[in-house]
Amino acid sequence: MSKVIGLKCRECGAEYEAGIQNTCYECFGPLEVHYDWDEIQDTASKEKIARGPPSIWRYADLLPIDGTNYVDLGSGYNKLHHAKNLGKELGLKELYILDDSVNPTNSFKDRVTSVAVSKALELGATAIGCASTGNLASAVGAHAAKAGIPAYVFIPSSIETGKITQMLTYDPNVIAVDGTYDDANRLASEVADQNPDWAFVNINVRPYYTEGSRTLAFETAEQLGWNAPDHIVAPLGSGALLCALTRGYKELEKIGFIDGSSCIRISGSQPSGCSPISTAVQNDTEVIPIRELDTIAHSLAIGNPADGYYAKQAIQTSGGYAASVTNEEILEAIRLLASTEGIFTEPAGGTTVAGLKSLVESGHIDPDERTVVYVTGNGLKAQDTIAGAVERPESIKPSYSEFTKKLNNITKTNN
Ligand SMILES: *Cc1c(COP(=O)(O)O)cnc(C)c1O
Ligand SMILES: [Zn+2]
Repeated sequence: MSKVIGLKCRECGAEYEAGIQNTCYECFGPLEVHYDWDEIQDTASKEKIARGPPSIWRYADLLPIDGTNYVDLGSGYNKLHHAKNLGKELGLKELYILDDSVNPTNSFKDRVTSVAVSKALELGATAIGCASTGNLASAVGAHAAKAGIPAYVFIPSSIETGKITQMLTYDPNVIAVDGTYDDANRLASEVADQNPDWAFVNINVRPYYTEGSRTLAFETAEQLGWNAPDHIVAPLGSGALLCALTRGYKELEKIGFIDGSSCIRISGSQPSGCSPISTAVQNDTEVIPIRELDTIAHSLAIGNPADGYYAKQAIQTSGGYAASVTNEEILEAIRLLASTEGIFTEPAGGTTVAGLKSLVESGHIDPDERTVVYVTGNGLKAQDTIAGAVERPESIKPSYSEFTKKLNNITKTNN
């Protein structure tokens, strides 16, 4: 028996067979995976998970793949750090960081891609594609290479050199578009329409893709001894990750693995140069798409967020809030996270940590709440950007006396 009944419209409830499709033919609403929860309840158990592989596939009973033919580079089951130093710095009693920068291609996009590519092969796709702000393109390139299937990735030409170098090395077909992510996404959607056998992970197989992010909720709860956090903070690009986290915790309660999922407060963070979702939460308005984007957090530079409406709803229903943070705050947060917890993140992670700081300062996060922050990408990917925020040391001659002089200077500046 399959645990996937099919696809279901989030708006009108119309049902479809599981296929390469993301939009309802009746109302144009987005589709989501329709699971057989009785079947899942019968097969899934905490013991089985504990015996599973140290990757997202330990939660296979909760993922929309039949069989075990996974395209697996080993994504997920990353460490939930008890961030005592950063917690102390911000005045939080119990702060945790789930470090997702250590996935195979160094961002959380490996989770969604591993699930989407596995499902695409199951559905008979002949090529894999995506529209990407940078990280997804590398994840798709790597997983398509592993699966031995052609890949077409569409990116805005303006993203970080480090990300372009990385994706090119996996050798997918890279289509760099003069324009924003939203322009690249529109083109990729048109290509997907013309080539229905090509699975675009975040477009026509998006219902399966988003399921991969729920594993971040599963592994947080597991590492907390199957307990729910009080408050979570996630970055917001399209809003898909935040929505998937929300669902992931609810589903764990549905199958009896945790309690109190409805008490989790869910907050998000966006860069102020591209904050359609945060602005909508702050002003309690509709999510209004924006065309002019200006931020160093390229992974979050989505002006027309596909899941913006649902992300705003999830935040407000939970009693959470959304921050928007400046480039300076993002760079400062990158340094703060690295110098307190030893975790090097890209500007998306800086946005989340800066958002955490701002939400604590504005009283939206209570110091007593057990808070979990999702750090989603690696600093090595955006070194050009981060280099501007640190000072290169002046060199010295390799002699002990030169070192002593230098040490005096260091002690002087530190005092
Ligand atoms: C894509 C991405 C996000 C945003 O995810 P959404 O699901 O689009 O909201 C956050 N952080 C990093 C590092 C990303 O690559
Ligand atoms: Zn519908």
